[in-house]
Amino acid sequence: MRTTRVTEQIAQLTRFGLMNAYLVREDDGFTLVDTMAAGSAGGLVGAAAELGAPIRRIVLTHGHGDHTGSLDALRARLGDAVEVLIPARDARILAGDRTFDPGESTRKLRGTWSKVATQPDVLLAPGDRVGSLEVVASPGHTPGHVALLDTRDRALICGDAFSTIGGTTVAGAGNWRFPLVAFGTWDGERALQSARELRALEPTLLAPGHGRAVPAPARAIDEALAKAAR
Ligand SMILES: [Zn+2]
Repeated sequence: MRTTRVTEQIAQLTRFGLMNAYLVREDDGFTLVDTMAAGSAGGLVGAAAELGAPIRRIVLTHGHGDHTGSLDALRARLGDAVEVLIPARDARILAGDRTFDPGESTRKLRGTWSKVATQPDVLLAPGDRVGSLEVVASPGHTPGHVALLDTRDRALICGDAFSTIGGTTVAGAGNWRFPLVAFGTWDGERALQSARELRALEPTLLAPGHGRAVPAPARAIDEALAKAAR
């Protein structure tokens, strides 16, 4: 597990150079954003210990297996005192309901939806606050995908709405150097619209689920949006 400090408050944790989770510092300890694939729990807990604070809550950006895979192991290790917060729409899918809401694409869900036994303590809706983080709707990669905006400095943990391996790329847009996110994307048009909405937040840092964090990302995002629109 590699730990990289990306802002005053946020550490990026990386496994295999491929997938990220984030530790966000709050007054009472850390909020862990995403849990990586199975087998990562020990490394995530160890990274928090090394940074000198306990994990108090776990938030998921979406329900894919490479973000939820170590949730059950973390729950077993950390106990019920650690709050688990999951976007309501993706929690429904994780619970086995694959029906679509009116107005949603009825394309088949893509990506890995591994079984998750942990029941969420909180079902998140856009606009909710998790400590200093604001929950921002960003559907498209999955129906319930959310991004998390640190209201202290406008750093944006964007889940898979963007990836940065092989260059900043919108979910659903082709990226031959890292096709995983495109393959996993449910509704590419909605993902592009969400990417535009995230750009409008004027983030000071883009912190993706896959790839390095990008400081002052406006230009990189604009290029990714232009590329995705073609
Ligand atoms: Zn994903």
